[in-house]
Amino acid sequence: MINLLFPKVCNACKSLLLKEEILICTTCRHSLSVINNLNFGEQLIKQLFFGKIVIENASVLLKFEKKGITQELLHNMKYRGKKDLSSFFGKWLGDELKEKPSYKDIDLVIPVPLDKKRLKKRGYNQVEGFGVEIAKALQVPYLDKILIKDIKTNSQVFKKRFNRFHTAGVFRIVQPKLLDHQHVLLVDDIITTGATIEKCAHQLFKSKQVKLSLATIAIA
Ligand SMILES: [Zn+2]
Repeated sequence: MINLLFPKVCNACKSLLLKEEILICTTCRHSLSVINNLNFGEQLIKQLFFGKIVIENASVLLKFEKKGITQELLHNMKYRGKKDLSSFFGKWLGDELKEKPSYKDIDLVIPVPLDKKRLKKRGYNQVEGFGVEIAKALQVPYLDKILIKDIKTNSQVFKKRFNRFHTAGVFRIVQPKLLDHQHVLLVDDIITTGATIEKCAHQLFKSKQVKLSLATIAIA
């Protein structure tokens, strides 16, 4: 009855889902640009950050293509309230990561945060489901209040105009001591230029002997 009233549709192409299909129809699932080899995904990410930040492990599920299915899915996840997709990707990657020895010493999962204003507007951080499911799979805590993003005030923007040195960025660690000697898995939905991850990493590395790994749903 519920299915008749609210038919479930594919999050990518909007066609009706069959009973056994979850969130994405079989056709779209087969057309997803899945990075099947986790090691290849790791190479892609490590290349991007080579010479910038030291990364222990890195993993990614999908290759992002403009106007492709991944873009549609991420867009729905981010702007149209499709939080289930985030958890779906988290379970998918979590299942793979828990089998990998190199992920055994991860201590906690931290998401790339949204600032308060955006969080209020969107109602959720689109990467939460992804991070929570990976944390569950690795049996470690998911901490989303330790790395935060401050809203840039007008005065800061104003100052920046007249100051050639960039400020330390808008990301901030609330209790840096908590991260001492921890192996952090930082999660995000998509890595494009890597600039956001880099800014977060610089904050994380302010704690003593932090090791950093990355997991993302897609890479551009
Ligand atoms: Zn579809």
